Amino acid sequence: MGSAFIFKAIHPDQELCKQATFAAEQEVRRVEELISSWKTTSQTSDINQHAGIKAVKVDLELFSLIKRAIKISQLTDGAFDLTFASADRIWRFDGSMTHLPDSQTVRASVANIDFQAIQLNDSDTSVFLPLKGMKIGFGGIGKGYAANRAKSVMQAMGIKNGLVNAGGDLICWGKEEQGGDWHIGIADPLNKKAMLAWLVINDLAVVTSGDYERYTLIEDQKYAHIINPHTGYPVQGVSSVSIFCPDTELADGLATAIFVLGPIKGIGLLDQLIGIEGLVVDQEGKLFSSKGLNLHYYQESSPANKPIKKIGRSHEK
Ligand code: ADP
Ligand code: MG
Repeated sequence: MGSAFIFKAIHPDQELCKQATFAAEQEVRRVEELISSWKTTSQTSDINQHAGIKAVKVDLELFSLIKRAIKISQLTDGAFDLTFASADRIWRFDGSMTHLPDSQTVRASVANIDFQAIQLNDSDTSVFLPLKGMKIGFGGIGKGYAANRAKSVMQAMGIKNGLVNAGGDLICWGKEEQGGDWHIGIADPLNKKAMLAWLVINDLAVVTSGDYERYTLIEDQKYAHIINPHTGYPVQGVSSVSIFCPDTELADGLATAIFVLGPIKGIGLLDQLIGIEGLVVDQEGKLFSSKGLNLHYYQESSPANKPIKKIGRSHEK
């Protein structure tokens, strides 16, 4: 998945813990084999290779994931869009780009971005991308789905307390080792070594999309690895989006979407959704939070909607 996963199983039976974390790891590998667009043998690659040619029958699991992803697109006015992947060809976020692609190329890539064009056939769980060059990719939601699956596998084995950390995106359930609630830190996007805030939770996913790990600098401008499906350009101006809700997949998709929508529209949307909270940090370090969010900030003078002057101390949690 391009990220290190950490599995934590809490149970008096150490052997069971070992087995459960092993099974969780295998499950993440299985999901990756199924959905990765980088693996040429995956069902996702099969769909992409047959874009504009024919429908491809896939497992119900992948079919359902695509359906749920499309629901997130509908909810976010297309800010989240699996078909963003056709723009992948023109952007690289590994630091190797030195200039922007010309606007015509970008415009041409947008022509293939349209979640509404994806044709799903329920009767045989087949997927058809009608345009040649159209492509889907699960970079914005796959880790969250895999984390949900890993959690389910561990729970089915009797692990009532645990945590899955998918490269910073996590879900926890039950209690931590000492029997208390989980303490989760939110990284400061402007200072990697510091924590911005923390919260005490159980049974919740915390997912962050940031511009600080994968981005490209072109003429001193920072472009994040999240593409605005309406323009074909990488998003600028947002530094990180954290989403808090019971489901890692939904949190992952929404974090990516709200990155595109920006703080005002993004928080506006979250305020309409029950049981989902979020925090947006813009590139100047200004915080925007949804109404029901109850975070502990390291610097009390830095509540949401006020600019942070100095970021708080670092914290290991
Ligand atoms: P990460 O947790 O790895 O930082 P994010 O959840 O922030 O990932 O999503 C970013 C990834 O989502 C990108 O690397 C890309 O694969 C994919 N992506 C980029 N733009 C969009 C978009 N508008 N809709 C859906 N997925 C996207
Ligand atoms: Mg995401």
